[in-house]
Amino acid sequence: MDLDIIIVIIGAIFSGLMIAVAWSINRRTHPKALWLLFFTEMWERFSFYGMRALLILYMTHQLGFHDKEANLQYGAYNALVYTMPLLGGWLADRFLGFRKSIVLGALLMSLGHLVLAIPSHATFFLGLGLLISGNGFFKPNISSFLGKFYESNDPRKDTAYSIFYMGINVGAFLGSALCGYLGQKVSWHWGFGVAGFFMVIGLVTFLVFSKSVLGDKGLPPHPEVLAKKHAGIPFSWLLYGLAFLLVPVLMTLVRLHEITDWLLPILGVLTISSVIYLGAKEPKQAGEQLWAALIMIVLSILFWGFYEQSGGSLNLMAERNVDMNLGGTVLPSAMVNNSVNPFYIILLTPVFGWMWTWLSKRGIEPSSPLKFGIAFLLLGVGYYVFVLGGKTGAATGLMPLWFFLLGYFLITSGELFLSPIGVAMVTKLSPPRMVGFLMGVWFLAAAFGHHLAGFIGSKMAIPETHKDGTPFALTEALPIYMNGCHNIALASFAAGFVIICLAPFIQKWMHGVK
Ligand code: GLU
Ligand code: ASP
Repeated sequence: MDLDIIIVIIGAIFSGLMIAVAWSINRRTHPKALWLLFFTEMWERFSFYGMRALLILYMTHQLGFHDKEANLQYGAYNALVYTMPLLGGWLADRFLGFRKSIVLGALLMSLGHLVLAIPSHATFFLGLGLLISGNGFFKPNISSFLGKFYESNDPRKDTAYSIFYMGINVGAFLGSALCGYLGQKVSWHWGFGVAGFFMVIGLVTFLVFSKSVLGDKGLPPHPEVLAKKHAGIPFSWLLYGLAFLLVPVLMTLVRLHEITDWLLPILGVLTISSVIYLGAKEPKQAGEQLWAALIMIVLSILFWGFYEQSGGSLNLMAERNVDMNLGGTVLPSAMVNNSVNPFYIILLTPVFGWMWTWLSKRGIEPSSPLKFGIAFLLLGVGYYVFVLGGKTGAATGLMPLWFFLLGYFLITSGELFLSPIGVAMVTKLSPPRMVGFLMGVWFLAAAFGHHLAGFIGSKMAIPETHKDGTPFALTEALPIYMNGCHNIALASFAAGFVIICLAPFIQKWMHGVK
């Protein structure tokens, strides 16, 4: 049996064991809903990241995009994926409730994956449009919904979000390992098809268990408004129709990514102004908490901009400039590049859980803003390790695998100081009726981050040939990536220091929330 298959199998067994351990430790103390949301999200992320592992490679190899265009369109796709939650979160708060939104989103995404599995260029953008719309209804709402099963200051909430984050990453790990393997070693469409299959499994899991496990939570806030007919059609159906009608618009926005360059800043200014305004309307403490959340959300943009090279330029770098030979087997680069990060998260989640408890018992757990600052420092060290790896492999143009693995380990540790902390923070700092919306704003920051990432990635584009037509050598490509990694490392260090200095001020506005 090939080594890569053995790795997938060992990884799957290991993930299963970690889930079993997390479940047996927490099953008495946490609601059943945690596990339903955990598994639904796990399969959704399986498909999302399984597909992501292949996307940029499919674009450059199969659809004939050049690096620069592929990075920019990939950035626009991701930016839209993370912009739509603003609408999906808001519609859930106002009309649909979390449950209906999650089902609608899962349905759209299942269709999107299945369309991508059709081996045709013509349907490529349609598949992406369906995925973007679906993700907007699914992703923010499943994250916010979890918070509803805990009181806002419930000490179990952070643990619940860490377990949930582990579920995300079990899905991301298995999806990118399996789809990465299938896509690169069997066929692209098998890779995309398997991603779609598991999205359907997530949807079915949610539908089958939601009645018995979720009680009366997550139902529409005003069912009478949804049932009211407009021109003979119930309002709820109009909203479902809207989700589908958005698809052609979203497809066009990915294709013409320049429009997204314009739209995003406008949306950003509008969103920031409205959160500032909403904060001013709240009583002093709640308003300041909302503003504190906003500052942290804005800071996360930069983090995602640096971090999210992973599915773009680092995916291409891994394919070209990292020595994937392990004990005589050349591992599929999409599998390695995309599955190491979630693997480390599965591994590190218990360590971090234990570390936060240990620190908080002694009263020295860092505040969320301080954790954000540390996240940037670790990110910077991670990218710096890539630079060292590049120097070591300069002669052959191939970075040794272990530098690549160590760099990702540090980047992932940084992620654990920011991402799950940020999601939990949003649910703690926002007034209950605005959680869905604010979660949308959190993801909008990721949208900006992805857009920035696409731009940074496009600066690391490798030309196929020199001007005179001679091919571009590996030894020439590696320094371009290393220059990019070096700049990202420096910028991350600078951001980390600034945030650490600002942390005590932000914390004042948090009024005791950690
Ligand atoms: N990687 C995590 C997920 O897919 C976090 C993504 C984000 O917040 O942008 O849920
Ligand atoms: N670590 C990412 C998130 O938690 C997953 C990934 O990039 O594969 O979901």
